[in-house]
Amino acid sequence: MMRRLLLVVVVMVVAAGCQKSRRAITETRTPLSIGDAQVDLVVYATDTPGLTYISLHDNEQTSVEAALAIIRQRGGRVIELQHTGERNITFSLGDSIYVFDPNRMFTDAGVQRTLDGLSRFTPDAHAAVRAFAEAVLAFYELPTLEAVITLHNNTEDNYSALRYVAGAEYEQDAAAVFIREGTDPDDFFFVTDTALFEALRAEGFNAVLQDNAQATDDGSLSVYCGQEGIPYINAEAQHGHLEPQIRMLQALADVLGLKRET
Ligand SMILES: [Zn+2]
Repeated sequence: MMRRLLLVVVVMVVAAGCQKSRRAITETRTPLSIGDAQVDLVVYATDTPGLTYISLHDNEQTSVEAALAIIRQRGGRVIELQHTGERNITFSLGDSIYVFDPNRMFTDAGVQRTLDGLSRFTPDAHAAVRAFAEAVLAFYELPTLEAVITLHNNTEDNYSALRYVAGAEYEQDAAAVFIREGTDPDDFFFVTDTALFEALRAEGFNAVLQDNAQATDDGSLSVYCGQEGIPYINAEAQHGHLEPQIRMLQALADVLGLKRET
């Protein structure tokens, strides 16, 4: 699959920065097709090794900005799926138009649900989305990463850590929830690993621990990582909460750095 990717490299200096501590970022763009649509896998990279962050939803730009700020400080890279600026990806196959959520494409059950829910399911569309998901995972070089770190933004009063507390909609998906008094539950970490949950909670950040055995198979990257035993962290914040999301990513880098040393 990867050999079929046409690699176009566009290198530009996104931010040279005037401070010595700010690292320059280069941008590389790799187009990946699904049906008649094109999705660009954009990599923002520094020349310093560090963590890899991935953004799957093209309309959640605060999180990408926050991650770019972090890699300027600490090195690493950010991978972003770019297409229309929308959350979902639309493509044509034959005479039909299909829509799917790129964070619901990592399991067969998830692809079926997202195609059914947003357009309609056909075996051909299912195969196309699964092939696209595998190509994204291959590009992402998942086995080489110590943890999957995803970036998301939500809107006020919509999705938040409150959805996982006792009696709420996603209670069954969570093994533990921590919401610090006086904080905004829209800003929280969603993780698959108990040690990471405890470390982030100890730093005073809101956190939800996925119940990897019971979580609904919705095809999201967290469910895939839960099934595969891969440590996964989603740093999720409300749209526009740039400073809080930067603080979350700084704390996460510290926690992962400490974890590596132990
Ligand atoms: Zn998202």
